[in-house]
Parts: sequence; structure tokens; C-alpha cells
Amino acid sequence: EMFGQLTSGLESAWNKLKGEEVLTKENIVEPMREIRRALLEADVSLPVVRRFVQAVSDQAVGVGVTRGVKPDQQLVKIVNDELVKLMGGEVSELVFAKSAPTVILLAGLQGVGKTTVCAKLAYYLKKQGKSSMLIAGDVYRPAAIDQLVILGDQVKVPVYTAGTDTKPSEIARQGLAEAKKKNIDVVIMDTAGRLQIDKGMMDELKEVKRVLNPTEVLLVVDAMTGQEAAALVTTFNLEIGITGAILTKLDGDSRGGAALSVKEVSGKPIKLVGRGERMEDLEPFYPDRMAGRILGMGDVLSFVEKAQEVMRQEDAEELQKKIMSAKFDFNDFLKQTRAVARMGSMTRVLGMIPGMGKVTPAQIREAEKSLKIMEAMIEAMTPEEKEQPELLAESVTRRKRIAQESGKTEQQVSQLVAQLFQMRVRMKNLMGVMEGGSIPALNN
Ligand code: GDP
Repeated sequence: EMFGQLTSGLESAWNKLKGEEVLTKENIVEPMREIRRALLEADVSLPVVRRFVQAVSDQAVGVGVTRGVKPDQQLVKIVNDELVKLMGGEVSELVFAKSAPTVILLAGLQGVGKTTVCAKLAYYLKKQGKSSMLIAGDVYRPAAIDQLVILGDQVKVPVYTAGTDTKPSEIARQGLAEAKKKNIDVVIMDTAGRLQIDKGMMDELKEVKRVLNPTEVLLVVDAMTGQEAAALVTTFNLEIGITGAILTKLDGDSRGGAALSVKEVSGKPIKLVGRGERMEDLEPFYPDRMAGRILGMGDVLSFVEKAQEVMRQEDAEELQKKIMSAKFDFNDFLKQTRAVARMGSMTRVLGMIPGMGKVTPAQIREAEKSLKIMEAMIEAMTPEEKEQPELLAESVTRRKRIAQESGKTEQQVSQLVAQLFQMRVRMKNLMGVMEGGSIPALNN
């Protein structure tokens, strides 16, 4: 079970919320402690854990209630979304050069699975209809060259070799020329893996990079090494400049620290993951699927998403019905205007009503100002007047009285009355209900 320990650690966080009604500042303390512990045990780097826990707590407290959704389910959803964000959000695709060949330079420490990745990547590209060629640049281990040739053979992809007496940068130059001659789509350069980072390795990589001018420079890291993998990605990026990482051995009992730390620590995305020893065990890194696997709560996630969607829909529909109905009166008007002034969540609701676009911050401030004025005038109305705006349209005396009582001008009162009728009409037109759509002229 991939990341099994992390999954069960997080489970104990949800369990702390069983029986609670809402998420509060107080009742998330314990669950957050569990989440923190689970992440640290998974070998996620400490600054990442701190930021993550902070982000989740902030959201949990402010999340509000969605009907039918329990606090523990709500927390699962928040943690899921933050995990996805942490891992880079979107899948980060391999980039291909405008004119072939695309060059992919692979680097990595010994034993991480770099040679295997070379062949897996060639196979992966082949399935996409792209031809590729491998270049054997690990001149320090003859066995590595032999292994690459064997694997290349296995996936039926040519391997360029020049023995162990030629400099890697020279092998790179020759290999690239050969690939161009053969109209190969993608060149994959294998480089020497050392047991640890040393200056010789970095200098050699820089030289090979200069010669190849690669589109992708990918560091292969072993998932079993946890946050150390993230540190390596950072170092290689600072030293030679890389475009991303390939995370191998995700099928083993790795704890998750690498998958969760690499992007946040290094700023570089994980582009591909290796999940086994077979040639087909290489796939893109999907942050959302990865989060889903870690949480193991696909059902809860889709339930919460649906519930939130339904609630948004109901909000919008209720508002719509009120505005559309000919009965839309000053009570509704006030409620509606207050809602608009309270914008935050209403922005998205209004965005859902066809014909009414999203509302800008400037419009919100304007709405807040005019709300105060409107409230004063509407409060000066009798209950009868509020429910039957026609009374105000017909009587200049009533409008005068309201102006006086609210300390506004008669013109402002007239504007308010006109606005209400305009709103009725606009909404009716929107619905395609054209009858009764005229604005009554104010009787002077
Ligand atoms: P290199 O030294 O970086 O070139 O590493 P190799 O490609 O020789 O791989 C080292 C070992 O790890 C080999 O036994 C591979 O079969 C194994 N290996 C590579 N990738 C994976 C993977 O994704 N999952 C598992 N389980 N083993 C892998």
C-alpha cells in the first residue's frame, strides 16, 4: 500500500472530529496535531509541514457549513485540495522542442533508477508515437553502458555508445549529431551517477548541458529517500539548472515525503514517476490523483464536491426566483442589496445567474455605500409600501414623506422606486417572460 502509514496517520485526524457539528478554532487543534505528526512521520520537510498545517487551519476555521457535510468530511476536502496545491496543482507535462530533436538530459545519484528511467522514458515516448535515441554517457561504469544497451534493445530503441575513453560531453556531441542524421524525435542522455554530489559530477553535467542545450534537464530521485530527494532537487537546480524531477520507486514502501516536498522545497515540479521495474511503469505525476491515493477517500471527496455544488446551485436558484417574480418587493430588494454588499460569496452566486457577470471590488464598495442610503429610505416605508411598490410609484405624497423621514432627497426616493421596477423588468426579460415588462412612469 503506497504511503499507507501517511494515510492511516491522516485518518486519525478525521476521527478526532467525529460527532462534531462544525469546524471551530478549538476542535481543529487535535486533528491538526495529527496531520502534522502524520506528515513529519512521512518524512515531509518541516518548513513544508508548517506551511501546510497553517494553510489547512486557516481554511478549516473559515469554511462555513455545507448542508449534509460533516466537519471531518470537510477537513478531508480541505486537506485534499492543499495536498494537490502542494504537489504543484496541475500535471507538469514534458516539454518538446519546436524543432526536433528534443533533448532530455537525465541526471541523478547512483542506484536511483536512472538507467531504467532512460529506457522507460523511450518506451513511454514510443507509445506517443515519438522516436527516440539513448546516449550512454556514464563512462565510469562499463556495466552501466551495457545495461543501457540491453534495456534499449528491450524497448527497441537505438543506443549511442562511444565506450569509456571518450569524454561525456564529446559523446553527447557525437550522439546528438547521429540523432539529427537519423531524424530522431527525442534524444535521451544518460549521465554518470555518483554515490554523492561532488564537484566533478556537477562540472561534467554543466559541460554536457552546454553541448546539448537540452529542452528538459530532469533529475532522477528515489522516493525512498524522502525529503532528502527534495534537497537534492534544490541543489541540482542551483548548480546546473533543471526543469523538473522524476521520482522513482514509488511502488516501494516509501513514506511520501519526497512526493510531497519536492515542488514546495525546490520550486521544480515532479514530471514523471516510476512505479515498478517494468518498462511500462513510468507515468506522468498527477497531483490530484496522488492526493486521492494518499487520502484514500475518493467517495468522501466527490460527495463533498457535489454537496457544495448543490448548495451553490440552490443559493443561485432561490435568488433567481425572488428576483424574477413580479412580487419582488422592497423587502426582497433590501435583502438582495444587502447580499450584494456582503459580496464575498455572492460574487460567485451572481456569476451563476445568466446575464449577470461577476462583480468587481469597485462595484462592491459602491454597493456598500448606496446600501446605507437605500436602507434609510426603505426603513422609512410602511409595511404596506414595502410590499406594494406600486403605492410609491403612484403617490408623490408618499415619496415626499419618505424623503423627509429618511433625510434623503425626493429624487433619491424616486430613483430607488424606479430601480426596483427596472430590476423586475430586467429579470423578467432575462427569463424571456416579456409580458408586463414596462416600467410604470412615476406619477408627479
Ligand atoms: P541507476 O544506478 O540510477 O542507473 O539505477 P538503475 O536504473 O540501475 O536501477 C537500480 C535498481 O532500481 C534496479 O534494480 C532497478 O530495477 C530498480 N528500479 C528502478 N526504478 C524502479 C521503480 O520505479 N520501482 C522499483 N521497485 N524498482 C526500480
